Amino acid sequence: MTDLGGEDYDVIIVGAGMVGASAACLLAQVKYASQNRALKIALIESTAGKPFDNKVFDPRVAAVTERSRQILESCGVWHNIEQLRASPYLAMQVWDAESTGRIDFNCHAIHQPNLGHIVENSVIVQTLLTQIEILDNVDLICPATICDYQNDDQSISVHLDDGRWLTAALLIAADGANSKVRQHFEVETKEWSYHQEAIVTTIETQNSNQQTAWQCFTQKGPLALLPLNDNGDLHRSSIVWSQESATAKSLMALSDEQFGAELSKSSEYCLGNVVTIDKRFSFPLIQRHAIDYVMPRIALVGDASHSIHPLAGQGVNLGFSDVEVLVEELVRALRRGNDIGDKLILARYQRRRKPDNLAAMALMEALNKLFIADPLPLRFLRSLGMSRLNKFNAVKNELIKLAMGL
Ligand SMILES: Cc1cc2nc3c(=O)[nH]c(=O)nc-3n(C[C@H](O)[C@H](O)[C@H](O)COP(=O)(O)OP(=O)(O)OC[C@H]3O[C@@H](n4cnc5c(N)ncnc54)[C@H](O)[C@@H]3O)c2cc1C
Repeated sequence: MTDLGGEDYDVIIVGAGMVGASAACLLAQVKYASQNRALKIALIESTAGKPFDNKVFDPRVAAVTERSRQILESCGVWHNIEQLRASPYLAMQVWDAESTGRIDFNCHAIHQPNLGHIVENSVIVQTLLTQIEILDNVDLICPATICDYQNDDQSISVHLDDGRWLTAALLIAADGANSKVRQHFEVETKEWSYHQEAIVTTIETQNSNQQTAWQCFTQKGPLALLPLNDNGDLHRSSIVWSQESATAKSLMALSDEQFGAELSKSSEYCLGNVVTIDKRFSFPLIQRHAIDYVMPRIALVGDASHSIHPLAGQGVNLGFSDVEVLVEELVRALRRGNDIGDKLILARYQRRRKPDNLAAMALMEALNKLFIADPLPLRFLRSLGMSRLNKFNAVKNELIKLAMGL
């Protein structure tokens, strides 16, 4: 091991977003059985987060599946998330704006209390970081930038902008879609642009969202209205409106009033008129997949290894599953006295996660292409397919259970 005179850890995690922070919470519970001590973890985050403001709604939300909810429970934060703000949704209505195709899902049909929860990203990050504050074996180093890396057979070290060197057996890259770790180690990716942008914001509508997630597929991209908890007469939802880039730019340039009118029309007034609109943000949509998730002493998780179209709200759910599986493999390795940075150990994580992530990406790609397709025969098949599927409760229920990770 190169002695750089720095601080020693077992694991360095780069990126304290939803995925990196959840990895820190789960790994903090893992012990080196032979030494009867918990893993020592450094969590490096480049951006100093804004203080959390309970009165402001984060325009970025995630549809948290039951499986992800369980992972967040294992992190010890689900209760706090519910206390802050989590909106369960009981039903889902999906329809094709270009035909009569329609399909609906309901939690009662599968004997579940809900289909999932809509949670603001900042609520998830805030509760995870609060949990990390009370963990003795996790050091949150923030804001900090990594200027250099060194790795050899036994360890990996990072040089921080404050001059410190940190050394560990394993580095987990959870630094998001534009991962600097992935770029530094020249991990190849396969990527392509959807030529779409997603507009996100929080809206108030005339009618209640009925704890239902509404998703309308239009030829220029899907529009989702995700239910936030109603507060008396205030009916709030969060929107993710994916549109061709040029259309998205025009929509972003509209006044709130004009944007609200367009949104009401495009959502076919499913919640009546849109009454108020918070600040809008737009994100270019790119599908990206790392060819390798692992190399000796390095594992990529979450958006650092894959980013997908938000149309089925699966992105961070895949990331939480990456973390769950990686931690399982590290626990297994420690139990056997193996080195947690060994590529053979990390390869087991890659083998278990890649097929699921690739399948989700292929499905999003197919759905997006299917719904923007214009030819009449395809529109007819789409409509027929949705209507038929809507009548097959058994198939429909299995599909929704799969999406919930049950
Ligand atoms: C419009 C839109 C809607 C979406 N809706 C959903 C949804 O409903 N459900 C769902 O599951 N997913 C959804 N997603 C996807 C989801 O947002 C991402 O999958 C998720 O944010 C990925 O989490 P992450 O922690 O891997 O990365 P990020 O959230 O990008 O976090 C990365 C963290 O690393 C930090 N960082 C970056 N570089 C460095 C560095 N060099 N050093 C240290 N720290 C660094 C960043 O500051 C950040 O804190 C949506 C995405 C978009 C664009």
